Amino acid sequence: MIRLLSLFLLVTTPIFAQIQHNEFTHDDTLRGSITPERVWWDLTFYHLTVRVQPADSTLSGSTEIRYRVLKQAQTMQVDLQRPLQVLRVEQDGKPLVVRQDGNAYFITLIKPQKTGQTEAITVHYAGKPRVAKRPPWDGGLVWSRDKSGNWFIATACQGLGASAWWPCKDHMYDEPDSMAISVTVPEDLTDVSNGRLRRVTTNSDHTRTFDWYVVNPINNYGVNLNIGRYQHWSETYKGEKGPLALNFYALPEHLDSAKMQFRQVPKMLKAFEYWFGPYPFYEDGYKLVEAPYLGMEHQSSVTYGNHFRNGYLGRDLSRTGWGLLWDFIIVHESGHEWFANNITYKDVADMWIHESFTNYSECLFTEYYYGKEAGAQYVIGCRALIRNDRPIIGTYNVNHEGSSDMYYKGGNMLHTIRQLVGDDSRWRQLLRGLNKTFYHQTVTSDQIERYMSKETGLILKPVFDQYLRDVRIPMLEYRLVAGGLQYRWTNCFSDFDMPVRVCVGESGPYYQLQPTAQWKILPVKNETALTIDANYYALSKLVR
Ligand SMILES: [Zn+2]
Repeated sequence: MIRLLSLFLLVTTPIFAQIQHNEFTHDDTLRGSITPERVWWDLTFYHLTVRVQPADSTLSGSTEIRYRVLKQAQTMQVDLQRPLQVLRVEQDGKPLVVRQDGNAYFITLIKPQKTGQTEAITVHYAGKPRVAKRPPWDGGLVWSRDKSGNWFIATACQGLGASAWWPCKDHMYDEPDSMAISVTVPEDLTDVSNGRLRRVTTNSDHTRTFDWYVVNPINNYGVNLNIGRYQHWSETYKGEKGPLALNFYALPEHLDSAKMQFRQVPKMLKAFEYWFGPYPFYEDGYKLVEAPYLGMEHQSSVTYGNHFRNGYLGRDLSRTGWGLLWDFIIVHESGHEWFANNITYKDVADMWIHESFTNYSECLFTEYYYGKEAGAQYVIGCRALIRNDRPIIGTYNVNHEGSSDMYYKGGNMLHTIRQLVGDDSRWRQLLRGLNKTFYHQTVTSDQIERYMSKETGLILKPVFDQYLRDVRIPMLEYRLVAGGLQYRWTNCFSDFDMPVRVCVGESGPYYQLQPTAQWKILPVKNETALTIDANYYALSKLVR
């Protein structure tokens, strides 16, 4: 996702700050934790069948949920958000007793659930789903129209959860190994969902059914519907793993501008395959699909609404000029194919794994085409957007995101760690290694932190703690004493000991320091100023 940068968010900051240690509700716990009714079964497959009726803005259909029994149990939790309603649940054709608790449904299974067995239930549902108020940030269903008055409909549900529009196990830790999505729409419209289109069936009731199939694990919020009078074109990209099918969908009124703007896709793939390794879903292809909102990283069907202009709605978030040379939504949302869809957070509290790396992917894209200095300027330029309002990591087990600093501060933390690594080829191997080691997995922050420490041979825990779990930006204090410059870290945890490169005097020389909370001395003569290499996200101050 991309964060909306508006006065609205700035104005509401104090309110967020006040309520951040909320009062999480019973509903938050049911939604955000791996409850006893979730933990015993492992998702293997979903078949979502849904009929979309724009005339009365309703959905109806079912999800077949296949699962493997990990531990014997008889009660299962499935989620579906109000005002949608579960109509009935069946196993082997027999109806089951269901108890509703808010947006969760607890299903009592009759058949003994034996460890190791694969079973399935089917959950039937219907109703008017929540309408998105400000997609993609405040999501749900978007019922829009194109210029000619035809329906233009989409889903967006990150954070909110996929159960806003279909019944599922709405927790990120568990993904199905594959998924079928069958969508029935009025006959003049086309549905674009995830994976490959297997079949289009014309029905006798003036509707058509689009059968999509995803052969890879997919996260809940990555599943999507895009419905409109789409024009479609395709090409083949020769990538690291061979031919990759690219499919593009745009409204008729935007066909020419889309064909022009979407030429950036092969450019994006070239840069990201270089930095991160092969596109993670060759089997499912890559799609870029016009949507009636800004954009979202839907797996293998990235959605696009950036008005076919470079920048973020025509603006450069870094204010360096580099961000105007490419389309922010094509680059950022596609970057998520590696960090969000390939490597996925288990708990939304660790959303930095998606957004910090993807913010940094913008820097790496810039670097790939315009040079290392350009990339560095871009990520450093984004610092103006950092708020340091609350920690980047949110509260676990209650579906709670941390600060929006997960974007620009997180990107700058990674850029700082890259300086500590001090070797660009190792840095690239680290990024590729992450995508290989955690290929198609859901992960915790701890796993990523440990991997990066192990692979770099650096003790990065104090760095991660400082930037992810605290709001203070480390301050390198220095003072002039007989014999040189004294320096130490302040405004940080007491064990923070990150090395830093500094310039002493107006233009050098440069020194690599190992500051801690204790004063240390750099024996330099007649020097009165010290500045931190701008590539490090830290501050410095002269004290008496
Ligand atoms: Zn994002």
